[in-house]
Amino acid sequence: MAQTKYIFVTGGVTSSLGKGIIAASLAKLLQARGYKTTIQKLDPYINVDPGTLNPYEHGECYVTNDGAETDLDLGHYERFLNVSTSQANNVTTGRIYQSVIEKERRGEFLGKTVQVIPHITNEIKERVQVLGKSGDYDIVITEIGGTVGDIESLPYIEAVRQLLWELGEDNAIVIHLTLIPFLSAAGELKTKPTQHSVKTLMESGIQADILVCRTEHELSTDLRDKLALFCNVKREAVIQSIDASTIYDVPNLMLKEGLDKVTLKKLRLPEDNQPDLTRWNQFLQRHKNPKNEVNIGLIGKYVELQDSYKSILEAFIHAGAANEVKVNITSVHSEYIDNRTIKEKIAHLDGILVAPGFGERGIEGKIATVQYAREHNIPFLGICLGMQMAVIEFARNVLGLENANSTEMNAKCDHPVIDLMEEQKDITDKGGTMRLGAWKCELKPGSVVSEIYSEKIIEERHRHRYEFNNKYKEQIEAAGLVTTGFNPDTQLVEIVELPSHRWFVGVQYHPEYKSTVANPHPLFVAFVKAALSYKKEKN
Ligand code: GLN
Repeated sequence: MAQTKYIFVTGGVTSSLGKGIIAASLAKLLQARGYKTTIQKLDPYINVDPGTLNPYEHGECYVTNDGAETDLDLGHYERFLNVSTSQANNVTTGRIYQSVIEKERRGEFLGKTVQVIPHITNEIKERVQVLGKSGDYDIVITEIGGTVGDIESLPYIEAVRQLLWELGEDNAIVIHLTLIPFLSAAGELKTKPTQHSVKTLMESGIQADILVCRTEHELSTDLRDKLALFCNVKREAVIQSIDASTIYDVPNLMLKEGLDKVTLKKLRLPEDNQPDLTRWNQFLQRHKNPKNEVNIGLIGKYVELQDSYKSILEAFIHAGAANEVKVNITSVHSEYIDNRTIKEKIAHLDGILVAPGFGERGIEGKIATVQYAREHNIPFLGICLGMQMAVIEFARNVLGLENANSTEMNAKCDHPVIDLMEEQKDITDKGGTMRLGAWKCELKPGSVVSEIYSEKIIEERHRHRYEFNNKYKEQIEAAGLVTTGFNPDTQLVEIVELPSHRWFVGVQYHPEYKSTVANPHPLFVAFVKAALSYKKEKN
């Protein structure tokens, strides 16, 4: 078997330069040349995973098939590559230490003093090579979170240095992503911060092989020459990454700059064939030339931060392209919705999505929104908490079960139509203990969802503790809200729909995690389509 090649992506100057998108774009180009490629993210924080982080802190928590709660960059990896990631693709400092400490408790270090070097760095090196050693990939791209020079990144940088030495220069390289700021007072792009961050890397014993330079303006030839000379990289290894109107343009921009070519050259891999981006470009073509547009409301409580609903927003881009429709998303804060404001905020929309979430804040606004969508026959999609709110709204306003609620919001409510799952009842730890990852769901023949998926059994990803309370199932169904998806083993209700409505679907799972450029999620595609026909009918 051929040696797996490793690419490390570090960041300099500032955070938020888009390392994840650069890594995903490079991976896309390599994949499009026929290399089996995967991406891994190493995060230098102490949380064992981002599952316990508030979305305001870290954006959305992305969930993989195997139930890992991970960084949202893994979502980009999957959306770009259309290949599933797993627990092994995201490692945090917390997880590294947890595993080293567990080994220490088991006595595996045979009386040695356990130290950052070599024990923590060895653990990091092992985690990096797990994917390579699986034999499933030709190339593994490892993105190091944070910025070089950060105290907390040091063990990662040292682990990378050792790996570069052990694997040899033909098998492992470093791409350093940096910023070339534009000083408007001077009217100039500045290279000094980049020189300094390359130097900081060198102090740790790492020479960057390729520089990817984020910039708002084109880099001149002179500036590229200067960067090459002072940062000690080949001229062809200075890659410009200019701001793009959509992240989906970045693979083509990187192709134009030759990032894939110079990478392959450094790794001594053939670079003369061209990547096949036909399908990718077909998607872009449709995305950029919509024939129609729809306005969809995203009702949630973390709407101030776009990253909180990253996968949902991206799923709409995929579904929009599939329908050749521009999807305009209006984010509506559920806390600001009440009887007085609802009409102005909701009535004009062509489709309404009530978002996932946790806790009590803003739920009455969500319930009022569901009621409006139901009574005014506006296409509605409820995801996870959104589905639970649809059930509560129906129980309260159609069945007249006053005070119906989820026991998450009111443990003592009279009608717990949403209740804690049986297996959750004895769990006290918060981290990694929800119902997570992909579970099978059987679709009821003849339902809207069975037509949308055109499959009998689907698999979707979950992240929740509460569920539809089957004690109320008969009553709810008799009044018209039907259950159309079930876990085949436990009979947990996964989907509800309202046949009397033009398009009303609530799902306990998160379809957004599985939507990719190559495979737009059928539920989002159908929802956008329903919003479009509703809009046409209205006008
Ligand atoms: N808070 C709800 C639960 O735990 C919904 C979770 C979610 O929307 N992801 O069941």
